Amino acid sequence: MGKWAATGICVLLLIAWVLSGWWSIEWTRGTQADWIGIGCDRGRLGTGHFVSTAFGAPGPLPRMDGIEVHPTSGFDWYFGFRLGQTVVDPTFTLTTSNVPIWALALPVVGLAVWLWRIDRRIAGACQSCGYDLAGLAPNAVCPECGKGAPV
Ligand SMILES: [Zn+2]
Repeated sequence: MGKWAATGICVLLLIAWVLSGWWSIEWTRGTQADWIGIGCDRGRLGTGHFVSTAFGAPGPLPRMDGIEVHPTSGFDWYFGFRLGQTVVDPTFTLTTSNVPIWALALPVVGLAVWLWRIDRRIAGACQSCGYDLAGLAPNAVCPECGKGAPV
């Protein structure tokens, strides 16, 4: 991955994070008795699987397909995982996982910083200490650490 691609992903994650503090977006698919959702809400990316045993009879069930956007406010910073029945409705089982966007961004930010540093070193700096060797003879020894030659 190039440094620009990594930087671009950082920016996109930052935009998604900020926007999700104001609006949540959720994509859903399935029937009212069994549907899945993928969404972005309050600074987190989430997935969910919802199953209801209240719909016993076979036959066409109302569909839950679509994308919904709701206003929201604030951020959740923590991870969230849940598996099991809801307290309110025992016929309703849900499995959800929520991952904060900061946790997704962290490794990408680290990668981007590292890639930018590597690039800076290649552009005429000492391989061992990063000292700028611009203006010195091509094979000169580094005046800072006494090692190596510029790449
Ligand atoms: Zn050096």
